[in-house]
Amino acid sequence: MRVPLLVANWKMHKGIQDAVAYTRELVALAPTFRGAEVVIAPAFTALSAVAAAARATTIGVAAQNVATDPDGAFTGEVSAAMIKETGAASVIIGHSERRRLFGETDAIVNRKVRAAMAVGLRPIVCVGETLDQREAGQTFAVIDRQVTESLDGFTADQVAGFVVAYEPVWAIGTGRNATTAEAGAVHMHVRGRLRQGFGATASETCRVIYGGSVRADNIHTLAALPDVDGALVGGASLDVATFANIVRRLKTQ
Ligand code: PEP
Repeated sequence: MRVPLLVANWKMHKGIQDAVAYTRELVALAPTFRGAEVVIAPAFTALSAVAAAARATTIGVAAQNVATDPDGAFTGEVSAAMIKETGAASVIIGHSERRRLFGETDAIVNRKVRAAMAVGLRPIVCVGETLDQREAGQTFAVIDRQVTESLDGFTADQVAGFVVAYEPVWAIGTGRNATTAEAGAVHMHVRGRLRQGFGATASETCRVIYGGSVRADNIHTLAALPDVDGALVGGASLDVATFANIVRRLKTQ
């Protein structure tokens, strides 16, 4: 049984004070989460403070991005080791905003996953098709390429510990989310692709979460799908009570 996972992607929101206040409130609400794993992903500047506020609690912490290289002359970048040092244990890689706005390719995503794995950070690898790709009937081909190239070179054991986030780009921040049929079909496809590439055990262990305008009123239906293991939540994660409500509506063990 895969433990359901809920990740709050705050994007470029919340300074240190807000982030810590939110974390403390979430920690206080955690006893109501019934076995779901909950992770918050603040901006880099708040990472250490949030990790400190969440230390020795059930709330996990993730970065939203990582450099491809371990160190060097890369002005503005933050390495995996630096993230690890803050106390964060996971990192979101290849979010569609990074791919679309900052030119991240599958090859770059793959290098970032390697960088994360080199220091023991768990990668949360995002994949998803654009509206044009969906309308052109390319969804499965795009997902195949992203999963295959992003995870190229990793072992079945490593992939078993990864999280893949399926986020249809047209559903992120738009208020529009995939129907259960659309989400269910792609999640099943991702699982199949993982099985082809890494075998049955890895594909059954790796968690595949959904992202795209998830709210308290749609999480239950999405998370009830057999291949959906939770969600990556953007906008609706910014308010702690709203996010906690989403967590409570997840299916749990
Ligand atoms: C996201 O940032 O990954 C996301 C899914 O955003 P939203 O929930 O706002 O669509």
